[in-house]
Amino acid sequence: MLNCDCLFCKIIEGKIPSSKVYEDENMLVFRDIAPKAKVHLLAVPKTHFALLSQADGEGQAMLAHIFKKIPQIAADNGCENGYRLVVNQGENAGQTVMHLHVHILGGQPLEW
Ligand code: AMP
Repeated sequence: MLNCDCLFCKIIEGKIPSSKVYEDENMLVFRDIAPKAKVHLLAVPKTHFALLSQADGEGQAMLAHIFKKIPQIAADNGCENGYRLVVNQGENAGQTVMHLHVHILGGQPLEW
């Protein structure tokens, strides 16, 4: 979203640098700056919304696209033996960036 005061919108617009691993018209995937696993990627829709409950038709279509693309992106980035997806929703979940994002964690066996 143009001129949105949001960290991930600024990354999408290229105003803040990121370690990009995949991009298309609907989504951007980049490396988490503070990785919690050997592979820790963030997949973000290019439209701005914070929570699943706020997704409009365009946002829902982007989410469907993201989940369709994730298996190949994960496999291409060292997660061929499995990975975990995390989507924090709100304060109690510890969501710190209010632009919906899917954490892709892998590259190693993960504890629960
Ligand atoms: P969450 O806690 O689910 O909102 O996740 C936000 C994630 O964004 C955290 O794992 C942060 O490490 C990550 N993060 C914050 N700033 C950046 C940045 N500039 N580039 C990449 N990842 C970031």
